[in-house]
Amino acid sequence: MKQAVPSVKLLINGEFVESHSQDWRDIINPATQEVLARVPMATAEEVQAAVSSAKTAFASWKKTPIGTRARIFLKYQQLIREHMKELAALLTAEQGKTLADAEGDIFRGLEVVEHAASIGNLQLGEYAENVAGGVDTYTVQQPLGVCAGITPFNFPAMIPLWMFPMAIATGNTFVLKPSEQDPMVTMRLVELALQAGIPAGVLNVVHGGEAVVNAMCDHPDIKAISFVGSSRVGTHVYNRASLAGKRVQCMMGAKNHAIVLPDANKEQALNQLTGAAFGAAGQRCMALSVAVLVGEARSWIPDLVAKAKSLRVGAGKDNPDLGPLISCAARERVSSLINQGVAEGAVLALDGREVQVDGYPEGNFVGPTIFSGVTTDMAIYRQEIFGPVLCLLSVDTLDEAIAIINANPNGNGTAIFTQSGAAARRFQEDIDVGQVGINVPIPVPVPLFSFTGSRGSKLGDLGPYGKQVILFYTQTKTVTSRWFDDEASSGKVHTTISLR
Ligand code: NAD
Repeated sequence: MKQAVPSVKLLINGEFVESHSQDWRDIINPATQEVLARVPMATAEEVQAAVSSAKTAFASWKKTPIGTRARIFLKYQQLIREHMKELAALLTAEQGKTLADAEGDIFRGLEVVEHAASIGNLQLGEYAENVAGGVDTYTVQQPLGVCAGITPFNFPAMIPLWMFPMAIATGNTFVLKPSEQDPMVTMRLVELALQAGIPAGVLNVVHGGEAVVNAMCDHPDIKAISFVGSSRVGTHVYNRASLAGKRVQCMMGAKNHAIVLPDANKEQALNQLTGAAFGAAGQRCMALSVAVLVGEARSWIPDLVAKAKSLRVGAGKDNPDLGPLISCAARERVSSLINQGVAEGAVLALDGREVQVDGYPEGNFVGPTIFSGVTTDMAIYRQEIFGPVLCLLSVDTLDEAIAIINANPNGNGTAIFTQSGAAARRFQEDIDVGQVGINVPIPVPVPLFSFTGSRGSKLGDLGPYGKQVILFYTQTKTVTSRWFDDEASSGKVHTTISLR
């Protein structure tokens, strides 16, 4: 049985090795239920071996010249481009999203790899001459040591690529723990990273769930952890790893609202909203899952429903508009939340529960679903559904819409659709959400900037890529120096704190 499908390997000290674990999980194609491979829950010894290998490699990697580090990522971005189609097919098979969206997933990660290739311009210190007579102060950004990453199922290419390229480019070594639900494309990306020249031990991979994550949080040789996933697990990781003295950043769950003003370009606004609510079957942390319709915009509901109805649901490899949910359990959870919405009195304007896809009777499909008349006390509003379900609220003014969003605990992303510069500007200034789109539905910043989710969607101060992550993966060392001329007066003893 164990030999019937391929096993996903661990990466320890440059070798892809078979785990000795007794505990294995199936990786299942969500459109067909075909078992694609098996993934081990790594043993405590295997986690220890991965961390030890990273610790040993750090001694030489931290002294490797910047140009050498940067050139690996130049080569890596080229390899990813050359393998784009193969990577996308693998991603779609195990994750379910459409091939076009799988390429988007890889491309958004590739942009971070490109950014890592310019590390020479990013990891720079500061210098101030004569902070006191003949005294200079400067800073260097030194790598921390062994860093670790824990990633979710929904972007198995982009999110691992948010993490290890920047950590390694800044001179750290890394232990990655991909999602156990879809680790295959991540492992292919890791193979390409080694092919690009990442030395043995600098990048290691372990697989697993709670026990492996807890071991990483507790391990004294891991200096920093980057986590992306649900708020429940992220909060646990943040607390546990912080208690163990680590630097931690956790990018977590969301409930992203769009405001639609009646002066918006209707066709564009509804197209953008539909794509952002139902694309990737709603399994994006930046999906728009709530729309607040202001004033007359509430009369656009039938047009929105018509657009959502026109979307094609299917297996990702056939390139429909949206694919299946990741697992049977996810499908059941989303269906039961839809049932709860009905029971709580929201109006089910479009019901995707019974969607059928020809040729894929076993797929975890849920079609686009729209609730109108939603109120903020309902479970469908309070919980992150993480499926193709859009909740519609109606209000009379922009102020009321802003107040609703600011009262929601999450702060990952938000958007406004309007043709009014004044309204957009007020929204930008007053909204308490870390990533804002103005006529842009999914405002995920490119890596020249950083991912800046806020409030309940984030723990830790620094984002996972861009300028902020240089600070996350480095320690600022500040050096104050004075060089005496041989001829200088030997002066006298000073017992005060001032520099003289
Ligand atoms: P998840 O929290 O279930 O899993 C994330 C990681 O934690 C996985 O590697 C998993 O193996 C591990 N894990 C699971 N249960 C654990 C436990 N009890 N103890 C320790 N570790 C555990 O998340 P998911 O379902 O894979 O991903 C979806 C979630 O991720 C959504 O909430 C989504 O909003 C969020 N997400 C957030 C962002 C962001 O940038 N804010 C991006 C992508 C996804």
